Amino acid sequence: MRPIHVIGGGLAGSEAAWQAAEAGVPVVLHEMRPGRPTPAHRTGRLAELVCSNSFRSDDALTNAVGVLHREMRALGSVVMKSADAHQVPAGGALAVDRDGFSAAVEAAVRSHPLVRFERGEIAGLPPADWDNVIVATGPLTSPALADAIGALTGEGALAFFDAIAPIVHRDSIDMDVAWMQSRYDKEGPGGDAAAYVNCPMSRDQYEAFVEALLDAEKTEFREFEGTPYFDGCLPIEVMADRGRETLRHGPMKPFGLTNAHAPGVKPYAVVQLRQDNALGTLFNIVGFQTKLKYGEQTRIFRMIPGLNRAEFARLGGIHRNTYLSSPRLLDSRLRLKAAPRLRFAGQITGCEGYAESAAVGLIAGRLAAAERLARQIEPPPATTAIGALLNHITGGHIESIDAGPRSFQPMNVNFGLFPPIFEPRLDEAGRRLKGPERGLARKRALSVRAERDLAAWIAKAGARERA
Ligand SMILES: Cc1cc2nc3c(=O)[nH]c(=O)nc-3n(C[C@H](O)[C@H](O)[C@H](O)COP(=O)(O)OP(=O)(O)OC[C@H]3O[C@@H](n4cnc5c(N)ncnc54)[C@H](O)[C@@H]3O)c2cc1C
Repeated sequence: MRPIHVIGGGLAGSEAAWQAAEAGVPVVLHEMRPGRPTPAHRTGRLAELVCSNSFRSDDALTNAVGVLHREMRALGSVVMKSADAHQVPAGGALAVDRDGFSAAVEAAVRSHPLVRFERGEIAGLPPADWDNVIVATGPLTSPALADAIGALTGEGALAFFDAIAPIVHRDSIDMDVAWMQSRYDKEGPGGDAAAYVNCPMSRDQYEAFVEALLDAEKTEFREFEGTPYFDGCLPIEVMADRGRETLRHGPMKPFGLTNAHAPGVKPYAVVQLRQDNALGTLFNIVGFQTKLKYGEQTRIFRMIPGLNRAEFARLGGIHRNTYLSSPRLLDSRLRLKAAPRLRFAGQITGCEGYAESAAVGLIAGRLAAAERLARQIEPPPATTAIGALLNHITGGHIESIDAGPRSFQPMNVNFGLFPPIFEPRLDEAGRRLKGPERGLARKRALSVRAERDLAAWIAKAGARERA
């Protein structure tokens, strides 16, 4: 049988190689380190953790990344098995001894009888006779390969920095303060003239907000990242630093908007949020890309009227990060529409995080193996954590509801990516649930549904294999 070629032996590539080999398909795994290093990796090991040693929360009942861990374990993930074997104490989080972890992944993958390991950079598009390829070269894809992918996908389709504005759960916005309206009631392509959530600010509130931005603690760029500011994408704190009124004439301009709760009062500034996913559960704060420290972001963005109790699905940031405009470029099986022999996995697809990258590698490995074995498999449903992530990458995201800049940004798994569920109002004893309890009950219900739907998906896939 002809092999699947996996390019990149990071979190995603190692997992993809393992899953395809476990399915009975030969794999050639290509890794360029240590001969050709990246700016962040320090070793030549497979699945090196470039920064923190944590896979974040392991709570599968109330945390979406915990649900993802549970699903990966159920699907025989080599990354999760190695992480579990090399845990270090970290409360409710799954943290690992990084050397033990990556040595374990490397030992398992390289000793698999169906995996052949080759050191070396793939410095351009893979040879034409590689008919089933998984590109898992990560946020620091080597320039030669990135250039080739960029040329294949077209201008603007491959980004080299993310510029992430914070994303808020829609149901945590106080709509007694905020209102829905598009600037000048302009209709978007979908015919909606009230597409944005608007949060009004008085002069005092605006000045206090600018003051807070200027005083806040910021994170620094790493040496290798440079300072990737370009017009239209300045961090808000940099804009604020250029003049007290700059934000009010930029992303916080109040023009063309009338406060539905107080039509006679002209807001001094307005913060707008734009729908971020097709489900309508997540909204991003328009133009609010930032390098503020996370704690500062939560504190300062909750000063915005209407966002006082905002729950953040992700906070803002700007990093060196190579990733595709996946919703436009990839099909539902992670294949490049323009060249379906190339399948993408890991952070380059627009997921974010160790567990997420490995999870997308896991599903890419299974999809590639099924294709090689001419077996039918459907991707897991969007009600599972892996399915929700896949849906975000390949289609759940709204590219843009008007002629704004491209808005697809890398994202960690979170419950906002799951289709909404009927919210439980009573506990098991029939007592009425209060605010925070209701939130927890909702997360539990999403977790239970994910577990049931993943089990059904595994059973269906198993039945097909036996048939
Ligand atoms: C500086 C930095 C810090 C991060 N910190 C964290 C963190 O603390 N926690 C977290 O959850 N996430 C973090 N991330 C995000 C992300 O989770 C990790 O980058 C993760 O490693 C991504 O997994 P991956 O498999 O997609 O890519 P990687 O793990 O980077 O694997 C890609 C592999 O491909 C190889 N490669 C690249 N180009 C080629 C080529 N042309 N030919 C052959 N091999 C190639 C690379 O050497 C690398 O081994 C960080 C990212 C960066 C850039």
